[in-house]
Amino acid sequence: MAQQFIKGNTGDWEIIIGLEVHAQMTTKSKLFSGASTQFGNEPNQNVSFVDAGMPGMLPVINEKAIELAVRTGLAIKAQINLRSIFDRKNYFYPDLPQGYQISQFLDPIVGKGEILLDMPGGEVKAVGVTRIHMEQDAGKSLHEYNPKFSYIDLNRAGVALMEIVSEPDMRSADEAAAYLKKLRAIVRYIGACDGDMEKGSMRCDANVSVRKVGQPLGTRCEIKNVNSIRFLHKAIEFEAMRQVEILESGGEIRQETRLFDSAKGETRTMRTKEDAHDYRYFPDPDLLPLEITQAFVDGIKASLPELPDERKERYISKFGLSPYDAGVIVAEQEYAEYYEALAAKHDPKISANWMTGELFGRLNKISASITESPISAEKLGGLIGLIEDNTISGKIAKDVLDLMFETGKDAAAIVEEKGMKQVTDTGAIEKVIDEVMAANPDKVAEYRSGKDKLFGFFVGQVMKQSGGKANPAAVNDLLKAKLQ
Ligand code: ADP
Ligand code: MG
Repeated sequence: MAQQFIKGNTGDWEIIIGLEVHAQMTTKSKLFSGASTQFGNEPNQNVSFVDAGMPGMLPVINEKAIELAVRTGLAIKAQINLRSIFDRKNYFYPDLPQGYQISQFLDPIVGKGEILLDMPGGEVKAVGVTRIHMEQDAGKSLHEYNPKFSYIDLNRAGVALMEIVSEPDMRSADEAAAYLKKLRAIVRYIGACDGDMEKGSMRCDANVSVRKVGQPLGTRCEIKNVNSIRFLHKAIEFEAMRQVEILESGGEIRQETRLFDSAKGETRTMRTKEDAHDYRYFPDPDLLPLEITQAFVDGIKASLPELPDERKERYISKFGLSPYDAGVIVAEQEYAEYYEALAAKHDPKISANWMTGELFGRLNKISASITESPISAEKLGGLIGLIEDNTISGKIAKDVLDLMFETGKDAAAIVEEKGMKQVTDTGAIEKVIDEVMAANPDKVAEYRSGKDKLFGFFVGQVMKQSGGKANPAAVNDLLKAKLQ
């Protein structure tokens, strides 16, 4: 089970986690201005007067952003609010020229929803989503160019974000990682966010507290801007342990914002936590309440692609895959695409086994992702085809796959070149069997006097003599008949 307890001197502690995920929407322009969102442009190239907070500039909502937020809400089966309000969240930062961030507070566009986690054992856990709201991103202060000055890059200021807030439903670092993975898969499937955590398109704040089983929720700390799933895992484990140590030595947890130092693997105080009233939220007088129609929502609903959970269900019910394998394949859109290409032409179960077992194992070894795989779905399909039509055995196929990785050649070419074709000619196999029996008369006698277990020995010998090329089913049948 994924639940994880921390053993303390005073008993077991339960870890409670709620995540706030910021996902940059895939709009080409910003949330309230026409400036570009192109990543990697020169600093301050993507800045309009609105983003620079010039006096008198008025924000205009980006319709595409509304669509993507609704799309995300529908994808997690959430309530869509036809009326939502943009508020000003006031705070001063050099990289926030307006002096406030336009966000949504009491009336967000998306209400309660749910995300299903695919846990390693194949079990599924539901985690509640509290809300999704739209808000502007801030710019970036750069301190690395000059020891005396900070520079400001406003390219990100005003970029459209969704903040997806979960209920405090997760109980281990593994569950938090599974949540982030699943959410990432969903937004990528529907094209709402590219999910690229390295570029900062997806960032996560982890709220962590601990409690004794059965007790009310404890005081939480929020770890800001964790930018990879691996760091999220580490940060939570460190933070939960830190809290347990404080509580067990009689201390108290102060609610605060902390940051994760990935080099040291620890969390540190950033600021003591401000409350909502510190931000003096109020409805932005520059923006009307956002009203959308049910028809707009229905149109988006009709355009949703098959989502990870639906796809997983189809793989289990139609293709007979295990929940675990199905979960692994749907977890990344690229995996699913690769798999679809395989399963369209080949046995779906054999395809899943070869992909998640043999292919992934070899990709892991060379630290390659599926998009960098030297073996395309077409090529792996070629190999599977040779297994399906009995040209080679599964065992030989593993060697062929190794050679495919080394040489980039097609399976058929390798099998031809190396003479790896399976021997199905019964005459040839019988000849090998006769040789093996002649070389082991004592074993034959033992077998015939009832030592059935020796059958495996004979199969092994025959396969060895044939260089692994004899068709296993034929070997079995012929051996049985001859040993009688
Ligand atoms: P804020 O907006 O101040 O960060 P919220 O009440 O919106 O506060 O909560 C933010 C996140 O903290 C949510 O994801 C929620 O699930 C999580 N959370 C709330 N209470 C706890 C707790 N005791 N332990 C862990 N996470 C919590
Ligand atoms: Mg928060």
